[in-house]
Amino acid sequence: MRRVDLWCWWVAAGVAAIAGYYLLPGGGMARDLAYNGIGLVSVVAILAGVRLHRPARPAMWYWFAAGQAASAAGDLTWNYYVYVLHQEPYPSAADIFYLAGYPLLAAGLWLLVRGRGGGLAEPAIVGVGLGLVFWVFVLHPIAADTSVTGLEQAISTAYPAADALLLAFLARLFLTRAGTASTRLLAVAAVLLLIADVGYSVDTLYSGGDGDEFTAGWLLSYVVWAAAALHPSISGAAEPRAGGGDSRLGRIQAVVLSASALLSPAMLFLPDVGDNALDRAAIGASSVVLFLLVIARVFGLARRVRGQAAELRHIVMHDDLTGLPNRRRFDQLLAASAHPWVVFVGLDGLKNINDELGRPVGDRVLAVLAGRIAISAAAPGRIAVSAAAAGRIAVSAAAAARIGDDEFAVLLPTAADAALTAERLAASLAEPVTAGDHELLVGAAIGVAGAADPVEVLRRAEAAMHAAKETGEPCRTWTADLDERAGEHARLGAELRAALDAGQFQVVYQPIVAVPEGRIAAVEALVRWHHPQRGTVSPALFIPVAEHNGLIIELGAWILRTACERMARWRADLGDAAPDRVSVNVSARQLARPGFSRTVTEALDLAGLPPECLTVEVTETAVFGGGQAVTALHELRAAGVRIALDDFGTGHSSLGLLHTVPVDVLKVDKSFVDDITSAGRHQVIARALIQVTDGLGLTAVAEGVETAEQAEVLYALGYRLLQGYYYGRPAAELPLAASGNAHL
Ligand code: C2E
Ligand code: MG
Ligand code: MG
Repeated sequence: MRRVDLWCWWVAAGVAAIAGYYLLPGGGMARDLAYNGIGLVSVVAILAGVRLHRPARPAMWYWFAAGQAASAAGDLTWNYYVYVLHQEPYPSAADIFYLAGYPLLAAGLWLLVRGRGGGLAEPAIVGVGLGLVFWVFVLHPIAADTSVTGLEQAISTAYPAADALLLAFLARLFLTRAGTASTRLLAVAAVLLLIADVGYSVDTLYSGGDGDEFTAGWLLSYVVWAAAALHPSISGAAEPRAGGGDSRLGRIQAVVLSASALLSPAMLFLPDVGDNALDRAAIGASSVVLFLLVIARVFGLARRVRGQAAELRHIVMHDDLTGLPNRRRFDQLLAASAHPWVVFVGLDGLKNINDELGRPVGDRVLAVLAGRIAISAAAPGRIAVSAAAAGRIAVSAAAAARIGDDEFAVLLPTAADAALTAERLAASLAEPVTAGDHELLVGAAIGVAGAADPVEVLRRAEAAMHAAKETGEPCRTWTADLDERAGEHARLGAELRAALDAGQFQVVYQPIVAVPEGRIAAVEALVRWHHPQRGTVSPALFIPVAEHNGLIIELGAWILRTACERMARWRADLGDAAPDRVSVNVSARQLARPGFSRTVTEALDLAGLPPECLTVEVTETAVFGGGQAVTALHELRAAGVRIALDDFGTGHSSLGLLHTVPVDVLKVDKSFVDDITSAGRHQVIARALIQVTDGLGLTAVAEGVETAEQAEVLYALGYRLLQGYYYGRPAAELPLAASGNAHL
């Protein structure tokens, strides 16, 4: 027999036995023995259930078994009186056993309901309501019966009083909606016991009957109580649910509660009730108690609802990962502020971190950066309070929020606060983040805007952030021309695709000259867009747009192919007079895309150009974040392609980069070359840079050389490769010889 079915068989057998009990001739000894048998076997069945199903907390089942055993002992004792001593005393020793059963059962029920949560008010309401009915109909009449002795009165009152005790636990069990089948069976068994007790009392008290019909209730109660122990769900019956139990008010529970609360006033409408002072006092007192309990319950509910509402509000208004206020909350704060300033932070390279190191690392990085943003926003002494204006609450404290996947915003009261916060943010976000055993640098661009209505301020700050991202500046404040530029960008972006198909792009080449001999050592490939209406559009204008809309991938591949083919032709046409290599600019987005190194080797293969003849120029910013970009550079280096760091000195300018990124060439930015002739900071830096490159065995190229004087100073500092208008503008064809070489 399967364990699962066992309890069903048990109930069936129990019901059959009870039916048998009734079918046996009344008053016989066989009948009473059957009664005893059912009680005793039930005790054994409870113990068997515990052994079989091994509940986590078996204690309560031992109490139940003890309670039932006490009752069964009562039955035996009674039969002993009847059949051996031939007397039917009341009260007798049997009553001691019977009464002892109740506290034992109650102890088990107490273990069951304990820790299930739910307030005490609800069971108390049911207890008081039913308790009053008990009092009026059962306890009081028994207690008032003057025809019996004091001891008889006491014993007779004790049974229903013990029932009331069980009732209180049952109310609690029902109201907390204890879930398992086993607990439901227990409840049924206890209810049967109650019905039998009350029915027996009422029958004998009011109708003068012998209460025989109610013995079935006691027998069934034995059987069902044991069935609860045999049910397989017993293993979970004593387990309080996580969170302290389910105390939601179900429909049945609500009906039970309302009915109980109405019991005592309803009692006043019954005839014959309340015609004595004691009952009236009891009804009055219980009405007051019920009223107070209901009030307590209402206050308890209200408090819980308030607590849950606050919790919900917090969840709805905050970001899970960082704990910062979210977009919704930020919009609220923004809308409520009079002259808001917004500092907008956009992170870069988070996607790379997620892709390569996994989301947990990405999440950790976000959390750390969010912490830094919150600290920068709320630095001590900066909690400024400005006067309320135009009915709006002025921003009273800096508020940082996460408003997008990799976007944060800080709300500030004044322009000065915004500027200071932006500065502080730029500094703190430039620090590497330690996540696991990785030291990660995440790029961040900051936009600042203010002095407009809330929605507009946020839009402007975001636009300024994007502008900063494009130019690689750490921070940018919104100006009107940013919007014009954005409009222009949108137009250009739309035209780029068609321009590529229509062949409006051209690659031109600018010489990189070796001094002093003046030989064209290399050329840099630079793209041009010949726009039918606008004329030649500068790459400084359209490359960022192509990066933004993704067309740079296709455009960049085309430039690479074109430059490699042209270089291969020069080598074929000019032989030794051809430049050693061609330098091609590669943007951050191209580099970050997996498979970039394959694009390069394919272009080389297609043109039949040896890899040593190609240099790839990348900016510091493109490789600063590490990740796929640096991987691609290692692959290229391994393939034999040279790597140049372009515009060196304008970006992050971290010499540490030279450790992690494979570099062959440093291209010193034009800004250092511009005032190289006046001895000053820039000359010092230019000298330091040539020392660094020499020391590391790298090659230095000075960009943007426009005059002979600049060329001379650079040569004197140690530069041997120069590029600039002085030697030649970018052009479709190679000049026969570099124009500036006469001077050096
Ligand atoms: P870059 O890579 O630093 O290129 C040097 C820029 O300085 C070129 O501007 C060049 O024409 C200009 N230049 C060279 N010598 C002088 C000089 O003596 N004086 C002055 N004032 N300027 C000089 P260009 O061609 O307008 O390109 C601007 C930037 O656009 C480039 O800076 C590069 O970052 C980007 N770019 C150009 N072509 C491409 C390309 O094919 N792909 C990608 N991804 N970016 C490109
Ligand atoms: Mg370049
Ligand atoms: Mg450059």
